[in-house]
Amino acid sequence: MDSASVERKLGRTLRVLPAVVLALLALSYLVGGFSESAEPSAIKSFSHFLFTVFIAVGPIIFIAVLLLIERLRRATEKNLATHNHKLVYADAFDLPSQEMHGHKIAFITDRPPTFTGLTGDRYTHDTVAQCALNTQHVPPVAGCECGFYAYNDIRRAQHELSINPGAFLIDVDLFGVGFTYTHGFKAESQLVNFITLPKRCMRCKTLPPKKFVATYKMNYASFAYWQWEFRCSICSHNFKEQSCMSVQEMSQALNTPLR
Ligand SMILES: [Zn+2]
Ligand SMILES: [Zn+2]
Repeated sequence: MDSASVERKLGRTLRVLPAVVLALLALSYLVGGFSESAEPSAIKSFSHFLFTVFIAVGPIIFIAVLLLIERLRRATEKNLATHNHKLVYADAFDLPSQEMHGHKIAFITDRPPTFTGLTGDRYTHDTVAQCALNTQHVPPVAGCECGFYAYNDIRRAQHELSINPGAFLIDVDLFGVGFTYTHGFKAESQLVNFITLPKRCMRCKTLPPKKFVATYKMNYASFAYWQWEFRCSICSHNFKEQSCMSVQEMSQALNTPLR
């Protein structure tokens, strides 16, 4: 029983209620329920009973049903907040069996270079997910953020890339137990198929990029790290040799093709 179905039932009842009441009143009038005579009669007390129900009990039932609807709605909201309802099927154990190929964005950080997700989790080209929040979890767990995510539509990943200009677009396959979401998948393990290299230098956004350079970054959580950017020869000219990598070297370091 959910709030919407109770609401629909109430709506249906309210529509037929006036007709039912009018029919009952007409019936009691026809059989003499409203006669002027002083004699008490069963039909008169029945008419009296009907009016009592209509005037007093009716609104109480109505209010009670409204309260029930409100309560059910609250329960649904609470359920939504505590469980991850982005799942496109009701039962988390009713898992879909399909190929989980997707797209996402990642930063390349550290030395040696490593993939780093938007949330800061690091992974290699082939990784089994681990839960940072609960050691009892074997990812993915519905309702927890553990597991590898990917969009099924490349345009979503491209949009995310446009608002995270330091990141790279990567093509992945997810394996193991997986959940289907409205925009993609969440699964147990991930294999990075290839990285799509940007067409423009990641600094000047004008010239064609030539090599990777490591820049020292500080993020909002106030820890510093090395982040790799793909830059043109002008934007990478004053970097020391140990802070530079060719496309070939980066591909070997990440064990992933770059395209
Ligand atoms: Zn977890
Ligand atoms: Zn440049």
